[in-house]
Amino acid sequence: MANVIPKPTLFDEQAVQKVRRELKLDPQHLRRLRTVLLKHRGQDEAALAELPEGAREPFAQHIALHSLSLHKRCDSQQDGATKLLFRTCTGLLIESVILRIASGRTTLCVSSQVGCAAACDFCATGKMGVAQNLTAEEILDQVVQANQLLAAEDRRIRNLVFMGMGEPFHNEQQLYHTLDLLTSAEYFNHSPRRVLVSTVGIPDAMVRFAYKFPKVNLALSLHSARQDTRERIIPLAKKYSLEQLRDALMERQKIQGTESTVMIEYLMLASLNDSPDDAAALIAWLDGLRAHVNLIPCNPIDDAPHLTGSDRETIEHFSGLLKQARLTTTIRYSLGADVAAACGQLVQEKNREIVKQLKVIQA
Ligand code: SAH
Repeated sequence: MANVIPKPTLFDEQAVQKVRRELKLDPQHLRRLRTVLLKHRGQDEAALAELPEGAREPFAQHIALHSLSLHKRCDSQQDGATKLLFRTCTGLLIESVILRIASGRTTLCVSSQVGCAAACDFCATGKMGVAQNLTAEEILDQVVQANQLLAAEDRRIRNLVFMGMGEPFHNEQQLYHTLDLLTSAEYFNHSPRRVLVSTVGIPDAMVRFAYKFPKVNLALSLHSARQDTRERIIPLAKKYSLEQLRDALMERQKIQGTESTVMIEYLMLASLNDSPDDAAALIAWLDGLRAHVNLIPCNPIDDAPHLTGSDRETIEHFSGLLKQARLTTTIRYSLGADVAAACGQLVQEKNREIVKQLKVIQA
């Protein structure tokens, strides 16, 4: 469907206006093209059909409707998850996941980087050996192409979560540009309340983000409320202490007022962070914060054989302790375990191959 050509895309306002003048197009035509593609989730042909017939081909020669090409689609055989593998113009692969929730709602999980410099011990992306920022156009094209695929099922993306590859706050400028375009009436007109940015925890950026986008939701991948344990699994915990993270969340709460809640993600790892003492530390750490705790069963990865997920009984018990302390707590129902394994592996192998080739070329 999508064709990757290194030319400006629809989000490059200057380039679009230049082509518009050259082709003597009415601004109204362009507005309609954008509306069909970004708001009505139409196919490329339908969007281009909003231009006068003679202008369609010359417009498409100068302006690309996509910045990624769809490499592979993996549909889960177990549940309603679909993993989309996209190729960037540098040849690397990224992934987005469509989650069809039983309620009928659809969530898209997008990537903000290729690889990730945070290198958390339990995460496959961090083991990829590369970290490259995606542009806002590349982040947004994941939304456009997923919506185009979903149109055939009469579904649309309702919620957008930044929980794919990458650390969004390591790509702060492009993240903000993405959120500006996503929520702008001229482009996607997507509600900021239906967007969730998930971070490993970068205090300064969390505060800047709260000022700039007070309505967009935030998730913090905490995984432990004990400094030594957190440092064992998250290298960046040495740089940003639990105290600094708490201060940042308190400040965010002040900025946002009574509506504020933060999602606390807590990966359940056997004998590492799942004891009653760990629950007590979490309860104490969250004191005074409005939070929703999401306990995550661990998806095992090949590169971390020393980490095992907690068993169901331990997760239930941990959850019970948090609930007793009146914390809103849910256990994440994981979708797409089969495609995560199948496609996740593919992305890792392909990207490693390409990175190796790049290193050979550079050497
Ligand atoms: N860098 C951001 C967003 C990407 S990770 C962050 O750290 O939040 C999205 C979520 O998936 C995070 O909560 C992360 O901790 C979790 N995650 C990573 N590896 C996982 C694994 N093997 N099993 C389950 N969840 C995992």
